[in-house]
Amino acid sequence: AKSSGGGVVTGYHPRMREGLVERLELENDLRGALDRGELRLHYQPTIDLATSQVVGFEALVRWPHPTRGMINPLDFIPIAEVTGQIVPLGHWVLQEACRQAVEWSAAAGGRPLKMAVNVSVRQLDRADFAESVARVLAETGMAAGLLCLEMTESVLMTDTEANLEQLVRLKALGLTLAIDDFGTGYSSLAYLRRFPVDTLKIDRSFVERLGVIADDTALTDTIVRLGKSLGMSTVAEGIEEFGQLAALREMGCGFAQGYYFSRPIPAAEAGRLFLEGATV
Ligand code: C2E
Ligand code: CA
Ligand code: CA
Ligand code: CA
Repeated sequence: AKSSGGGVVTGYHPRMREGLVERLELENDLRGALDRGELRLHYQPTIDLATSQVVGFEALVRWPHPTRGMINPLDFIPIAEVTGQIVPLGHWVLQEACRQAVEWSAAAGGRPLKMAVNVSVRQLDRADFAESVARVLAETGMAAGLLCLEMTESVLMTDTEANLEQLVRLKALGLTLAIDDFGTGYSSLAYLRRFPVDTLKIDRSFVERLGVIADDTALTDTIVRLGKSLGMSTVAEGIEEFGQLAALREMGCGFAQGYYFSRPIPAAEAGRLFLEGATV
């Protein structure tokens, strides 16, 4: 199915009927969940590989559905993107993540806390996106320099001129921009250089095979070097084993996330973790 922009899905095929009904149901439930404030954020720590300290978190949305149980973001974010619900949803995520970051940092005596928030290309399409981010920063008191917006490589590949303009506006606010799942798309190095990107997040699929498949070790190493040579920082996602951590340290990767350190955790737990100044 292809989105034609206004929340209408074209390319219907009878085989899709079941999926369609389920989607419409989820879409409807999601609207209610947003209105009733039922969505939650979990937070996965980001670790500075040089110090092993928790320097911040990535906010990951969670939907505790009244009858279906916890719904995975991969099962409702794509729907929200097609319907346009991603705009209010994403706005809520940004607001809540910034509010929490300011609160936890204050509780820890003002120790800076970096917060990373996932942003859909559909949000970037909105002419007023940078403006709405500026408003959230002002309302929550979040320092722009501590906010990182994560976007996938598709930002670099479609509507490039319009996206570039939007990213320049966001950069002007003083925040940082990361390319999420880096290495899985096909963004060209030329685009990467042209766009005001600060951070490359190395996709889990590379980290997964570190030390197991020689080629992938080489690829990860190449991404870390690429980041360095472009003056960007690198974050490895999906670290589950010590061997992967050791390999990434060796390569000089700057930051890491993964189950090895911590799964995404509820807000109360994340707040405590940061307060303790935990090294993991
Ligand atoms: P992502 O941004 O690449 O986030 C990383 C995903 O990998 C998260 O899944 C996280 O729980 C999982 N993960 C982290 N460490 C490990 C590990 O060591 N091993 C394994 N196997 N998995 C790990 P999650 O929370 O289910 O989120 C899935 C995706 O949904 C995210 O991928 C992101 O693309 C999207 N998403 C989540 N929250 C938001 C949001 O607020 N807005 C938008 N636009 N997208 C979101
Ligand atoms: Ca992410
Ligand atoms: Ca990612
Ligand atoms: Ca991913």
